Amino acid sequence: MRPELSDYTHLSAGKVREIYEVDRDTLLMLATDRISAFDYSLTPEIPDKGRILTATSTLFFDLLERELGLPNHLAGPVTDERIPEEVLGRAHVVKRLEMIPFECVARGYLTGSGKKEYDATGRICGVMLPAGLVEASRLSEPIFTPATKAEQGEHDENVSFSYVASKLGEELAMKLKETTLAVYSAAAAYALSRGIILADTKLEFGLDAEGNLVLADEVLTPDSSRYWPADSYEPGKVQPSFDKQYVRNWLTGPKANWSPAGGTEPPELPGAVVEATRDRYIEAYERLSGEKFCTWPGANA
Ligand code: ATP
Ligand code: MG
Repeated sequence: MRPELSDYTHLSAGKVREIYEVDRDTLLMLATDRISAFDYSLTPEIPDKGRILTATSTLFFDLLERELGLPNHLAGPVTDERIPEEVLGRAHVVKRLEMIPFECVARGYLTGSGKKEYDATGRICGVMLPAGLVEASRLSEPIFTPATKAEQGEHDENVSFSYVASKLGEELAMKLKETTLAVYSAAAAYALSRGIILADTKLEFGLDAEGNLVLADEVLTPDSSRYWPADSYEPGKVQPSFDKQYVRNWLTGPKANWSPAGGTEPPELPGAVVEATRDRYIEAYERLSGEKFCTWPGANA
């Protein structure tokens, strides 16, 4: 008999995910169907988004373990008996870790907050870049651009490698940098072989009871990474992303005519926008995995 979700203590609610305590050493990480854009939670939800994200994380945790021997926080399969029926397919049981308080970001292309910082200073997180780069330029080599983990509602703040080293020690900081760049390279090569550019990705790591560095949180999902279709890649403009670009364009486009800076809640998404957004998430998953997305929980394991 599987437990009920209400058997577990609810520990926290993020914009997208919920965390429950299974026991002292184990957490249940639940990906809901919620979607956020411009730091707002949108309504309604995107059906199956939680399953798609969970399946994507599973795919990459396994791939990175196989290819890089990188330990991860998964404490069981996506069908684990500790996962309640009602959330099967959109939850993982994970080892509770002591989390490292930095977001470990790797970028292979210039966009987002990295582009803003480059335009203002010529560098990102202390890394000097050549002059003349434009929106979506490919960097000559991927760079490590860590950020502090902001409190809820605040923005993460980019920091330099030396700042991370001053907080965590040179050795651990170096290991984070090397591991993050190795993950980026492996995942970017994999994605490219399936026609998708991995522009950047954000990882979180923790330490287990023995002090080992373990990959945690979600990994290489469209929520933590920027994926672009490779066939339409064209530097010099904002690239269409697989997932949220559609919803972002709609929100700020002529129909909704909403502005993130206006201080008002975003409008309700029409059914067609929800449907089109769901299709993008599914397409990203199917291209990355090479398999059909299936709503039966164990099927995407
Ligand atoms: P946001 O809504 O901005 O993403 P958030 O990051 O606080 O907010 P979630 O992403 O939903 O919210 O929550 C995940 C939380 O769980 C993060 O604080 C993350 O560091 C933490 N976490 C991830 N994996 C583990 C783990 N294995 N052990 C302990 N904590 C973990
Ligand atoms: Mg988070």
